[in-house]
Amino acid sequence: MISISKPFIGSEEKDAVLAVLESGFLVQGPRTQALEERFAALCNTRFAIATSNGTTALQLALLANEIGPGDEVITTPFTFIATVNSIVAAGATPVLVDIDPETFNLDAALVEAAITPRTKAIMPVHLYGQMCDMEALCTIARTHNLRIIEDAAQAVGATYKGQPAGSFGTGAFSLYATKNVMSAEGGMITTDDESVAERCRLLRNHGQRERYHYNMFGFNYRLSDLHAAIGLCQLDRLHHFTKQRAANAAYFNARLDSVVTPKVQKGLTHVWHQYTVRMDRGRNRERSRASAIESLTNAGVGTGIFYPVPAHLHNHVRKIVGDICLPVAEQSAQEVFSIPVHPQLSEEDRETIVAAVNQL
Ligand SMILES: *Cc1c(COP(=O)(O)O)cnc(C)c1O
Repeated sequence: MISISKPFIGSEEKDAVLAVLESGFLVQGPRTQALEERFAALCNTRFAIATSNGTTALQLALLANEIGPGDEVITTPFTFIATVNSIVAAGATPVLVDIDPETFNLDAALVEAAITPRTKAIMPVHLYGQMCDMEALCTIARTHNLRIIEDAAQAVGATYKGQPAGSFGTGAFSLYATKNVMSAEGGMITTDDESVAERCRLLRNHGQRERYHYNMFGFNYRLSDLHAAIGLCQLDRLHHFTKQRAANAAYFNARLDSVVTPKVQKGLTHVWHQYTVRMDRGRNRERSRASAIESLTNAGVGTGIFYPVPAHLHNHVRKIVGDICLPVAEQSAQEVFSIPVHPQLSEEDRETIVAAVNQL
């Protein structure tokens, strides 16, 4: 079976983890600091703060921007649940706005209508590795004095007109095992704002500035140096990984004719965290997505559905947002599926995938 994702673990990663174990410096040591410096450089931000995972990075990004109870945060329903859960965890209220059918990202044209006097921030999610319409969203944010908190969990290394993901406000990344750059578990916050960076550092470690003296309430959301060591090796591979993902995506785009293939927006670099297609309603009218996936499974091609249920239809979210209808997200959730695009695909794998998908 060609799996939908496959973390690459080389001898460098193994050696780096062993070296940390032997050093005895296991948490918030030199590897974590080095990873933060590398991330800040990659995202072209003044600061980067490592956390335990992408969800805690999002939560701290919100709290450090002083977003909490009574505040509304506008985001997309078509995302991993952690986006919405982080807003709930910060005590704020998620407000869900429908998506663009071509990019699957937040539809910037619908955002302004969702703004109320309580709105404090917009949280764009750069889904599948392609950035949102940041020009439009930043203009809205400036006009209404809102913060931008990017959920860049799937978009490490992506750019919008040359400007990196994570540099438009406060950025949050995930280094979870299946992400483009991984550390098994891990997260990262990026910002140019010194006070946001300082609050993130305090919130990450029980509000402690000096040992056993606590400036404020906080959590234990630290990253270990074992994880940071893996992340550093993966960052060394990022350029190569992204090139291979993009080459795989270009190969599929040129050959797949049975499904709607993904489009890259002008001026953007897509990092292809996922290669996501849509059932072609003209051609595959008779065919359900479930049967398409079954055929692919039988042909040895792994698939994923990101995501089968939009956030507003989960019970705990429905209790907050009520019974709302977001038609584009709902239809997309029923029509999309992703095929393997990871850097470890062989030429034979790519041929198998194209043949299987074009049989649909
Ligand atoms: C993976 C992911 C997260 C959460 O990251 P974790 O490291 O799993 O906590 C948040 N948002 C999106 C869009 C993700 O894909």
